[in-house]
Amino acid sequence: MNIHEYQGKNLFRENGVPVPEGYPAFSVEEAIEAAKKIGGKCVVKAQIHAGGRGKAGGVKIANSIEEVRIYANEILGKTLITHQTGPEGKIVQRLLIEEASNIKKEFYAGIVLDRSIGKYVFMVSTEGGVEIEQVAEQYPEKIVKVTLEPWQNLQPYQARRLAFALGLKGNQIKSGIKTFYALWDVFKKYDCSLMEINPLVITKEDDVIALDSKINFDDNA
Ligand code: ADP
Ligand code: MG
Repeated sequence: MNIHEYQGKNLFRENGVPVPEGYPAFSVEEAIEAAKKIGGKCVVKAQIHAGGRGKAGGVKIANSIEEVRIYANEILGKTLITHQTGPEGKIVQRLLIEEASNIKKEFYAGIVLDRSIGKYVFMVSTEGGVEIEQVAEQYPEKIVKVTLEPWQNLQPYQARRLAFALGLKGNQIKSGIKTFYALWDVFKKYDCSLMEINPLVITKEDDVIALDSKINFDDNA
């Protein structure tokens, strides 16, 4: 079973993973209401069970309420075709309206249950915002992994290793490590089999926050 980005972000928010303020919207009116609540620059994001929405026109930054109206109108009901939907695409029935972040850098973070080795693998890469499968194929050294035994929790030295792998500095290290622990908590608490945050970003304020969320649950859990 998998869930939408906004549902994943609700789990993140409830468990201490920093995410932008955001609300789901099922109509243009709801999108405008959400944007008013947020106030300021918003992102209008198609909610479908597939990634690659940005490139397919499913993620738009709106500078005004009027632009939220325009983008919500354009994206709701549209069939989005991304590299993950297959040629038939997926119809957008809901949106996430969220606060636009001031992005300094985009990273990738992921946790998987690797049954072939019977361990969890927590990985990060500086090559965020792009297709991680491509990175894995062309530059495998750019994905840094730590493995966790099934009975273990994320260890402090592992969290530091992940932070250093991303080149975090100063306050970013503290913020990054806190976010990694919180992500691990969510993974364990909800019996996830896969969690991907692409991108995990550093903001201009040096906070490390999750801008996307993909979560699959272990059906055997
Ligand atoms: P997908 O992976 O389906 O393309 P994302 O949620 O990763 O969708 O969004 C695509 C891109 O849009 C991100 O890499 C990021 O650059 C930008 N983006 C997404 N959410 C926000 C946000 N809240 N603020 C600013 N930029 C965003
Ligand atoms: Mg993404």
